Amino acid sequence: MRKKLEDIKNRIKKAACVCGRDPETIRLVAVSKTMPADRVREAIEAGAAILGENYIQEAREKINTLLSYPVSWHFIGRLQTNKAKYAVKLFDLIHTVGTLKLAHELNKQAKKINKVQNILIQVNVGMEISKSGVYAKDAQSLIKDISCFENLSVKGLMTMPPFFNNPEKVRPYFSALCNLRDQIKKESMPNVSMNELSMGMTGDFEVAIEEGATLVRIGTAIFGKRN
Ligand SMILES: *Cc1c(COP(=O)(O)O)cnc(C)c1O
Repeated sequence: MRKKLEDIKNRIKKAACVCGRDPETIRLVAVSKTMPADRVREAIEAGAAILGENYIQEAREKINTLLSYPVSWHFIGRLQTNKAKYAVKLFDLIHTVGTLKLAHELNKQAKKINKVQNILIQVNVGMEISKSGVYAKDAQSLIKDISCFENLSVKGLMTMPPFFNNPEKVRPYFSALCNLRDQIKKESMPNVSMNELSMGMTGDFEVAIEEGATLVRIGTAIFGKRN
C-alpha cells in the first residue's frame, strides 16, 4: 500500500512537471469505496489525506471507525436527495451535485447544522444517458441558481467522461471541462469560487493533470481491483 501510494504521488508530480504546473496544486483523493475500514486505515497511515467514498451508509461506518485520523472525506457517488442530511454531516466536499433540487436540499440541511457545505458541480461532458450531471450547456445557468444558496460554496466542477481504453481519447473531455470552468469563473458569482477541477481516475489521471485537474480520484491503483 505504501509503495503504491508513493508511486501514484510520484506519477502526479511527474505529470505536473511535464506541463509546467506546481505539483502542490494537485490533490489526491484516494477512492476507498467497497474497501473495509482496516484497508482505509492502512492507506491513511501510508499517507492518504483525502478519502473518496460513494455510498453514504458504508462511508458513515468507516468515518466513525476512523474518527481519530485528521483526514478529509469527500463524497463522489450518486447522492439521493433523502441522503443529503447525512452527506452534509459527513463530508468536507461533495463532488456530485448536478441538479437544483439536490443543491436546494443540501443548502437546507447545511443551514440546519450551521455549515457552509463545499460542493462541486458534476458535468456530464459526454452527454451519456447512463451518467449523472448537468449538461455543459446548462451548467452556467444551474450554478447561477445555486449561487443564491448561502450555505453552499461552489468550488468548481467534476466529471466522469466517457470510457475509453486509450486515455488520449478522453483528453478533449477534460479540456472542455477546464474551458467551461474558466468561462464560469469569469462571471464572478457570489458563493462560487471555481478553482477546482475534479477529473482523472486510475486509467487517465496524467492526461487529466495536463488538462488542469486539481483533484484526481484514484481507487484501483492504490487499493487494487474492487469486487
Ligand atoms: C470508483 C470511482 C473512481 C476511482 O476509479 P478507479 O478507476 O478505481 O481509480 C473515481 N471516481 C468516481 C466517481 C468513482 O466512482
